[in-house]
Amino acid sequence: MTQQKARHLVCCCCGSDAGRWEQWHNQDKGFGLCGSCAIRIKTKSIDDELRSPLGFSRTYGLPGVNFEPTEYQQHYGRHFAVVASFPCGEQGEKEANEFMEWFTDTAVLGEFDGRIILALASDEGKIAVGPMNV
Ligand SMILES: [Zn+2]
Repeated sequence: MTQQKARHLVCCCCGSDAGRWEQWHNQDKGFGLCGSCAIRIKTKSIDDELRSPLGFSRTYGLPGVNFEPTEYQQHYGRHFAVVASFPCGEQGEKEANEFMEWFTDTAVLGEFDGRIILALASDEGKIAVGPMNV
């Protein structure tokens, strides 16, 4: 992934402020995704491809890079932005590995509550100072 400067983005879905993030190449210039649309698409899209972590990120990029993270995983007292999660087991491991092959700057954070959680390899975690979305 090429490193770019963060810029102000407008949500491609609802037109609201999507915050300052790096432009994802698969979106029109100046457009990104807001957090609430990210949640809605991941959970409710009628498109199977967009509900899959890989299909979603190939279309919209990565949380914490291209749009606001919407989910955090607590680990060793720190909060890591969840990039993708997969059910534990053979199929989930296969999909997690495929995701990491596409997005080489992601890594396994661990297994939590039956899910394989991927985070950015560069994410050192944040210490929560206020209410976080966990
Ligand atoms: Zn939106």
